[in-house]
Amino acid sequence: MAAIKTAIPTRRFDAVIVGAGGSGMRASLQLAEAGLNVAVLSKVFPTRSHTVAAQGGIGASLGNMSEDDWYWHMFDTVKGGDYLGDQDAIEFMCREAPKVVYELEHFGMPFDRNPDGTIYQRPFGGHTANFGEKPVQRACAAADRTGHALLHTLYQRNVRARTHFFVEWMAIDIIRDAEGDVVGVVALEMETGECMILEAKTTIFATGGAGRIFAASTNAFINTGDGMGMAARAGLPLQDMEFWQFHPTGVSGAGVLITEGVRGEGGILINSNGERFMERYAPTLKDLAPRDFVSRSMDQEIKEGRGCGPNKDHVLLDLRHIGAETIAKRLPSILEIGHKFANVDATKEPIPVVPTIHYQMGGIPTNIYGQVVTPAGDGSQKIVNGLYAIGECACVSVHGANRLGTNSLLDLVVFGRAAGNHVVQSNLKARSNKALPKDAADFAMERMNRLETSTGSEKVQGVANDIRATMQKYCGVFRTDELLTQGVKEIMVLDERRKHVSFKDKSKVFNTARVEALELDNLIETAKATIVSAQARKESRGAHAHSDYQQRDDEVWMKHTLWHSEGNRLEYKAVVTKPLTVDTFKPKARTF
Ligand SMILES: Cc1cc2nc3c(=O)[nH]c(=O)nc-3n(C[C@H](O)[C@H](O)[C@H](O)COP(=O)(O)OP(=O)(O)OC[C@H]3O[C@@H](n4cnc5c(N)ncnc54)[C@H](O)[C@@H]3O)c2cc1C
Repeated sequence: MAAIKTAIPTRRFDAVIVGAGGSGMRASLQLAEAGLNVAVLSKVFPTRSHTVAAQGGIGASLGNMSEDDWYWHMFDTVKGGDYLGDQDAIEFMCREAPKVVYELEHFGMPFDRNPDGTIYQRPFGGHTANFGEKPVQRACAAADRTGHALLHTLYQRNVRARTHFFVEWMAIDIIRDAEGDVVGVVALEMETGECMILEAKTTIFATGGAGRIFAASTNAFINTGDGMGMAARAGLPLQDMEFWQFHPTGVSGAGVLITEGVRGEGGILINSNGERFMERYAPTLKDLAPRDFVSRSMDQEIKEGRGCGPNKDHVLLDLRHIGAETIAKRLPSILEIGHKFANVDATKEPIPVVPTIHYQMGGIPTNIYGQVVTPAGDGSQKIVNGLYAIGECACVSVHGANRLGTNSLLDLVVFGRAAGNHVVQSNLKARSNKALPKDAADFAMERMNRLETSTGSEKVQGVANDIRATMQKYCGVFRTDELLTQGVKEIMVLDERRKHVSFKDKSKVFNTARVEALELDNLIETAKATIVSAQARKESRGAHAHSDYQQRDDEVWMKHTLWHSEGNRLEYKAVVTKPLTVDTFKPKARTF
């Protein structure tokens, strides 16, 4: 508890990275090892970033279990994303995948092993051999704690490389100079309430997703969309925000994730008749069809009265037949989650599950080097000098309209590394920092001061809860014109209410309350971007399932959405259908 100071100290770095999850720490490692002076900010201790919760695996066509090919991985990713992904970026990611996974292995990441010593790989939704012919084992796993193993490995390598961590520091806003170049961030030390300017030749956003704009979510409480909020306030667009993935298996009532790895290891979904209903919806891939497909099928079963439990509001995930020994070896955390959150012994009883918000496919638009890009007005793209975005907060568009499981951890390391390399090659060391504008911190400090002086009657968590409830009600698995139109209206009302939040007793404000109030500004930007973009898209594609327009409409809608906060305005840009070296995968009907 301390008052906000007005005189702001400044520190100078070659690069500032906001976020210490998998993407931020992969990039920082590249920079620190190249001898750059790099600062990494995080709201929580680095190894508590949401990446730590990733369970199932990281995708790469190593072919350790049976024949595999990066080109098949590319096909699955393009098709899984319902043809909205940029094929140049997808080719880049799938080709790089084996290299970055072996690199992690050499960093010391404790992957599960096959008897011959190679990395163990399990099947995952939508991953196939030979262009959809049959499921393939592509997910490299460390039991059901892959993200934990990944994040700890990267943290240790960063400690060795002397990366400078600012733990429990929250970036509030970016600083852009008169030319629009990004020259650093203003940040708050959460313990003391002190603000500081971190000047940087390059700023990299790695702030993760915004899953907390929905009421039922598998995401950590810190996932409030700060990167998207900062970008939107700085006049940058957000891309494809209507596409949000519902994970089929969140524990009913609790939201906690049960990894798709459970179905990869043989688990099946059953309805109240005990029927394995996915056989009807996806005859080839069954329970391992992509997530949007499985979530919609589950919702359909529940709608048609075949849900389980007294309220018929969930289905069951059955893994009893896998056997206690395999469960204990490959899925130990799931056993624990079953006990703690569903009160079942998963070796003897099925787990009640419902589709739960999990991942945002959209984010801050970038190119394959992680550089943030905006439309130039003539159909081409302009690079925002000094700003990169990587990981879940970015949209390089490898996931299109629906992400395949294991492709996010892959995205983090591929593009974290690529951005790091690009920064190193830009010869940062030899360049000096651009001059800070005189009013560098004014915008951020105005936001801080507004909170201190506001006399409004709104409470931060009151508005935040209403945002989550509104998004859940109007922007769910199945969307309609009526729901979305009403949802947009209600979110706009919440945007007004948000401006009137204040602290009850101004003499006793805890910094945690300040942090939550600052996060609220980010939640609302992300929620607006999501629901306004969703309301405009009159088709069904990937995770955007529209009951009034049930078909994909490639003629009109095969394009990326760009939402601008200023003027609450939308524009569109073309999908890159041309890969780097191979032939285009042309849109086809999506059956599994
Ligand atoms: C439960 C769960 C399981 C998953 N399982 C898998 C899986 O098996 N395979 C897979 O491929 N994907 C999986 N995913 C998705 C994947 O884990 C995430 O997309 C990915 O980890 C996000 O990484 P990131 O680096 O973008 O950000 P995060 O890991 O979310 O890290 C964000 C960082 O930014 C910091 N930050 C945010 N805002 C600020 C701010 N204002 N100032 C300072 N710091 C800030 C945070 O402190 C944190 O350090 C899973 C996701 C969840 C939620």
